[in-house]
Amino acid sequence: MNRRTFIKNTAGLSAYAAFVSGLYTSEAFGDNAKRQNKLVVNPYDNVDWSKAGQYKAALHTHTIQSDGKHWVDEAVNSYRKAGYSIMAITDHDTGSPNRHVAPSGNSSIPAEMASFYPREPRPENFPANPTWPWTDYGCSSPENLDMVGIQANELTYEHHINSYFNNAGWNNNSNNPVDKDIKNWNDHELHTVRDKGGLALLCHPGWMNESHRKPLEWYIERFRKHPSEYLLGMEVTNNDCFKNEPYDIGLWDQLLTRFMPKRPVWGFGNDDMHGLYVPRQTFNVFLLDELTTDNVRKAMESGQFVFCKSTRHIDYSKRNFKGLDTYPRIHKIAADTSKGTITIEAEDCDEIRWISAPKSFETTGDYVTSLRPWETGTVVHKGKTLDYLNTPGIKNYVRAELHRKDGEHAQRTFTNPFGFSLS
Ligand SMILES: [Zn+2]
Ligand SMILES: [Zn+2]
Repeated sequence: MNRRTFIKNTAGLSAYAAFVSGLYTSEAFGDNAKRQNKLVVNPYDNVDWSKAGQYKAALHTHTIQSDGKHWVDEAVNSYRKAGYSIMAITDHDTGSPNRHVAPSGNSSIPAEMASFYPREPRPENFPANPTWPWTDYGCSSPENLDMVGIQANELTYEHHINSYFNNAGWNNNSNNPVDKDIKNWNDHELHTVRDKGGLALLCHPGWMNESHRKPLEWYIERFRKHPSEYLLGMEVTNNDCFKNEPYDIGLWDQLLTRFMPKRPVWGFGNDDMHGLYVPRQTFNVFLLDELTTDNVRKAMESGQFVFCKSTRHIDYSKRNFKGLDTYPRIHKIAADTSKGTITIEAEDCDEIRWISAPKSFETTGDYVTSLRPWETGTVVHKGKTLDYLNTPGIKNYVRAELHRKDGEHAQRTFTNPFGFSLS
């Protein structure tokens, strides 16, 4: 099918023109019969599988320093005990500590449990400052805990954005309105994160909140305006948005269709933990030769991690919590560019699905109220080896989902996308 017949065969010229205007790359279009995919983005290219360690990362957590329910040391120690070695506390910039503590009434935290941090003199930019360093909040240092801790903040005005490796933050609320001269507040935030040398990702797009949800075009504009050097990607799974999963996964596929391979959009999986008794065991697994802050940062930038999600809750607040799930564990991802294959070796995995562009690029439902306003990607193959030269339906990217059944529950491991250009 060439471009002309594509126009005729789909929703007509105006829809096609609208699609192209939102298109970063035209790699999604290729005649399948003649298409010769060339693998140009492989986020796992630099992994030395013989020596790489796998490190669990929680990149979205809250504490009592904003609207979370636990002190910093309690949150960090619980995650440490659950096998995490990378952690970012992403308290909201808008709002003060002890949000859930009330002197009386129906507060979930008794007044005597209130945090007395931060101590005087208060940090610059309080209360919009990141909860960092941990040692200022009654917690051991990440080094003492054998962890990598990341300075972070959840920028909370308009679309939520997690900001890492810098101290950006604004106390925007009804008492401190945003600067009315700033046309798009999220662009302003992202530019500030860039200028401060930080990294960012877009949080929980599918969060069912009318003022938070945005149209597809809004996302396309952000990822066009802000390159992958600092806007890394988006949360594809978020604990709070469990019911909205098709929304987030569909959005990711729609963006990958438009941006791969020139501008990767990395996917992240996060608990968005506010209370230790609610997480659904959603995390990222970094593939690193050595656990250092520098290596973690580089892996975030290059997509050198996978993310995992279970349908089962866990209560990390219990002294001896049980029920840590088993996930499909990847031993090796090998690309053979002469044969045109990608092979995933894994254990505890019932099925590997390879997914490429969705069939429809249109917004088909109301993005504010629908759980599925756009189509998710198409499964093009099942099995451990993908022949990307001869498998029909592969467009400009492919990503893998590893599925494991566990009674009525399921655990999944998602790879980041591999990108193709036409040779
Ligand atoms: Zn949020
Ligand atoms: Zn959050």
